[in-house]
Amino acid sequence: MDDLLFGARDKRGDWKPKEPAVSAPLFRFPPSPAAILRWLPHYFLPYNVAWAASAYVWWRWVIPDPQTTQTLGFAWIARLFAINCLAVLTFYGGVELRLYWRRTQATRFKYDARWPAERRDPTFFFGRQDLDNALRTFVSGMPIWTGVEVLLLHAFAAGWVPTLHFADHPVYFAALALFMPVLHETHFYLVHRAIHWPPLYARVHRVHHNSINASPWSSLSMHPVEHLAYFAVALWHLVLPSNPLMAIYQLHYAGFGAIVGHVGFDKIEVGADAAIDSHAYIHYLHHKHFEVNYGDGLVPFDRWFGTFHDGSAQGEAAMQARWEKKRALAKAKEAAKAAR
Ligand SMILES: [Zn+2]
Ligand SMILES: [Zn+2]
Repeated sequence: MDDLLFGARDKRGDWKPKEPAVSAPLFRFPPSPAAILRWLPHYFLPYNVAWAASAYVWWRWVIPDPQTTQTLGFAWIARLFAINCLAVLTFYGGVELRLYWRRTQATRFKYDARWPAERRDPTFFFGRQDLDNALRTFVSGMPIWTGVEVLLLHAFAAGWVPTLHFADHPVYFAALALFMPVLHETHFYLVHRAIHWPPLYARVHRVHHNSINASPWSSLSMHPVEHLAYFAVALWHLVLPSNPLMAIYQLHYAGFGAIVGHVGFDKIEVGADAAIDSHAYIHYLHHKHFEVNYGDGLVPFDRWFGTFHDGSAQGEAAMQARWEKKRALAKAKEAAKAAR
């Protein structure tokens, strides 16, 4: 596909979409039902449907029955861990292989013209971003992902919390399914703001931001504390009335869904004239500029708190003005301290 029909390339070769990034119209005021209706298919397709389907596959064929999960047995936990790892290896590894190793669409729709592995970087284990990121995914990400899953399954099976059935509460579950992405975004935004607090940034979140030019393996490349806080989103299903299938959907939304935002390309080509929107631009700008776009735009937190960057020249100017103000404030504070 000709990516220049959809955006422009600067002299460094970085590609930028023509249209500035927009947050979802869900919380716009005054409400715009027409915009919500136009946007609604994107709410489900392709990602939400994919994570819901994967949760169903796990619930139906991977997760053992409650008689097994009410006891913490090594065999079922090890099997679940192995299957989760295999799924992540196939999914994340498959996308990485296609876009970054085989480079099937070259740099078409690629935001950053450079390839992450091109230069040795001592910031990363083995000097390579992809190996470092994959290692962090499997060494701490997958045990924590699986650990949260085991805790959820055990809590439901052992009767720590009640299991609600779809047949008894169809309307409630439909509403909960629609609300889950909002819950994810809210949890993620709060955790993300917290770990950008300088002391936590230095100790925890810096690991994720080492990948300025992110690729699929960067998605779950985090410090273990961030993994724990990130996957804890599924534990809300022990507080809200819910059941294991919904809790796994929430977990898969976080686990598999982390790729949205780190793929590095605006569109993934799936044929000569067809491509899937990656919805990665908002989070790409976060990796590029750090102090913008803490959320992913489903709930417009960044608009509300003045940290939204839509990729346009105006967005860039607003960010620079905000930073300038911050620097001036810090300078004034320093001067006041020195004068004392
Ligand atoms: Zn990220
Ligand atoms: Zn961040």
